[in-house]
Amino acid sequence: MTKLFVLPMLALLLVSCQENCPTQSGGTKLQGQQSAGTQASCPEPTPDPEPVPDPIPDPDADVPTEALTFNANYVLIDFEQDDKDKLEKAIDIIKSVIASREFRTRVLSFTYQGKRRFVDNKGLSNQQIYNILLAGREDLLPEVDNEMDLELELYYSWRNVVGYTTPGELRIYMNTKFFDPYTPSQVAGNVFHEWTHKLGFDHASSAVPGREASVPYALGYIIEELGKKFEEP
Ligand SMILES: [Zn+2]
Repeated sequence: MTKLFVLPMLALLLVSCQENCPTQSGGTKLQGQQSAGTQASCPEPTPDPEPVPDPIPDPDADVPTEALTFNANYVLIDFEQDDKDKLEKAIDIIKSVIASREFRTRVLSFTYQGKRRFVDNKGLSNQQIYNILLAGREDLLPEVDNEMDLELELYYSWRNVVGYTTPGELRIYMNTKFFDPYTPSQVAGNVFHEWTHKLGFDHASSAVPGREASVPYALGYIIEELGKKFEEP
């Protein structure tokens, strides 16, 4: 009789504590969310949840089928024919890089400050992030379709912004100031960076230490670097 009474009371206590501690590890942490509601009885919020470490990746292991079938579906706005040609090369580069063992190894073994993890990883391990890329499930098109769903628009600005997107729309804006002189692998890196925002990954808005190890920056650089091998002369 006593036991039956104590257990629901304990559950009640746990529930009320969780309501007051929205940022504790294990819960979903929103970008920029403050721990204003934390009370003395609650554990301190963990700012960057520690992902569960993955096993060491085997560079000789086959990539999953989804890496080989990864595709892109795109709509282009304000692209001239030569822009389209460059974009198509960039998409082919992304597909070739994703299909490679080297990309898989680079993502799974990515390290920041001695630990295998990305910055702003949403509590996800490198393996989980790799799986999310292959799933191709955008926040605004939440279907696991194994492809990038892209809506790309070219614009011109004298500002030093390569491209941008906002959370409420699928569209990615690319500045011709950079797009025009960029090589296809540089465009590939930029498109991939912006696309990871569509998957819900974010980074610091200013160039703080560690930003380059965020999911969008780090993956954009990896795609660009590995993409050079697939660039036609
Ligand atoms: Zn970004």
